[in-house]
Amino acid sequence: MRLSQYHLRTVKEIPAEAVLASHKLMLRTGMIRKLASGLYTWSPLGLRVLRKVEAIVREEMNNAGAVELLMPSIQPRELWDETGRWEKFGGQLLKIKDRKEAEYCYGPTAEEVITDFARNEIASYKQLPVNFYQIQTKFRDEIRPRFGVMRAREFLMKDAYSFHLTKDDLAREYRNMYDTYVRIFERLGLKFRAVEADTGAIGGFASHEFQVLADSGEDAIAYSTGSEYAANIELAEAITTATRPAPSETAARVDTPKQTTCAAVAELIGLPIERTAKTICVITVDSESNTDSGDMVMAILRGDHEINEIKLTKAIGEYRLATEQEIRDALGTVPGFIGPLFDGEGNIGPTPRPIRIIADRAAAVLSDFVVGANVPKFHIRGVNWGRDLPEPALVADLRNVVEGDPSPDGQGTLAIARGIEVGHVFQLGDRYARDMNCTVLDETGKAATPMMGCYGIGVSRIVAAAIEQNHDDAGIIWPAAMAPWQVAVCVINPKDEPTVTAAAAALYDELTAAGHDVVLDDRGLRPGNMFADIELLGIPHRVVVSGRGLESGTYEYRGRRDTESTALDHRALLARLA
Ligand code: ATP
Ligand code: MG
Ligand code: MG
Ligand code: MG
Repeated sequence: MRLSQYHLRTVKEIPAEAVLASHKLMLRTGMIRKLASGLYTWSPLGLRVLRKVEAIVREEMNNAGAVELLMPSIQPRELWDETGRWEKFGGQLLKIKDRKEAEYCYGPTAEEVITDFARNEIASYKQLPVNFYQIQTKFRDEIRPRFGVMRAREFLMKDAYSFHLTKDDLAREYRNMYDTYVRIFERLGLKFRAVEADTGAIGGFASHEFQVLADSGEDAIAYSTGSEYAANIELAEAITTATRPAPSETAARVDTPKQTTCAAVAELIGLPIERTAKTICVITVDSESNTDSGDMVMAILRGDHEINEIKLTKAIGEYRLATEQEIRDALGTVPGFIGPLFDGEGNIGPTPRPIRIIADRAAAVLSDFVVGANVPKFHIRGVNWGRDLPEPALVADLRNVVEGDPSPDGQGTLAIARGIEVGHVFQLGDRYARDMNCTVLDETGKAATPMMGCYGIGVSRIVAAAIEQNHDDAGIIWPAAMAPWQVAVCVINPKDEPTVTAAAAALYDELTAAGHDVVLDDRGLRPGNMFADIELLGIPHRVVVSGRGLESGTYEYRGRRDTESTALDHRALLARLA
């Protein structure tokens, strides 16, 4: 690639809304340009990087035995009605009508479509197991799109869905995908951790997230300093770094490995911690989909059942206050309905009704004003849960964990780090297949409902996450596998010095022929500007071809992390790049 014939436009001025290093650098390098909130154009430069990530994901998925297909990004409402998710998915679902008034959504995920495909395509257990994947644009109408492509509305995801006759076979493929993800993130050169994700009642080995470690990450993870144990703390998406106090500053502590700080939540909902201490009730509706953040509901009830206002507005956006009546209508005036209630998988808090019913109703009624964010499960340590209220069984199971506490597996103590979720694997079980009447004939000729797993990777988010982890003041420092080019050959004064230009072109041709991914910077910029651009772009190797160098038979070489250049002759240069 010759930069003089390419479209590269680096800029100095970037909008103030860019706060993360990755967002700033993707704008400065011109990798992305914003079209509208959460919508970005990938420039030729950005697309090069995106395609490299995509290629590695595709190669490893293929190696793992998954088979690629491509589903439409627009999905008909009827399929979503079959699983009930048209109503339940929440505000992230972008609903569209065509000219005949038929309803569609822009796919935020594709369980319904793949299950529909499977029920038509798979008749017999002999066709199982199978793992279908696609790399396809998704749309989620995020409450707060931000950080550029990190939390966009339109983004590129690799999503895979596997089908199995038995639970054991699902567990085997889950392990296979887990191992594949480890290979993918290792090849991408990222520092990451696989963490236990919030599975609610499913528990066990049913869901893991892959978190790229970065201080700016939106997720908090607890990990053992003495073992492999790690779990997502599930902090609310809406709690920003600014409003999140360090654990040591909070009076409140948190439940389980999946913990959060109550002070942060109090801040989020706009109540001082003293006032919330007796009165918190959190309902999360989770596990209805693998997209865990769109369909959650939070409600706060006072301990004496006198609800004033539910302040969900403060740090969150344009959400109006819920009135007491709305909350009562939503939840029902159930005596004893107070205290932490857990996910939609049937865990019962101190309420006579199954949580699922309440939570679903609440989700429907509250969806106008409730935050669709990851609402953490939490309770306050030592808290008086109200009159006559038994400590819910689940809470008793949960430990209040802060940094330095023993790890749940008994090995080492817990530390807390921040992460960016770049992948998520999940054992779904038979839920979608059941809802959509997807069956296969088993060995005995009976109709059986297949078990499903699903496995997502945020292809476009990975690009931002990698930059978040690999940059300095001068710009991006790409891990080799993701760099737009491996080598930049920089020509000093190409217009005035034809011999230099010819020598640089010859080197470029030679390196390219030898299989290197090379860019020739023949734009004729002044050296300082040219070098600043190449550093900003994060190209691992820079080779300068100048008149002076040619006289002494050397090139000026500099690795992106080097502090100085080295003069290398032709042979030494090839050896360095090998
Ligand atoms: P998050 O917790 O960050 O909202 P999620 O749990 O909702 O993500 P999944 O449903 O697990 O996301 O989707 C699979 C992957 O898609 C995620 O692990 C993440 O890498 C990516 N992803 C999800 N939402 C976005 C987004 N708004 N922008 C970019 N990538 C995203
Ligand atoms: Mg998540
Ligand atoms: Mg989400
Ligand atoms: Mg997830």
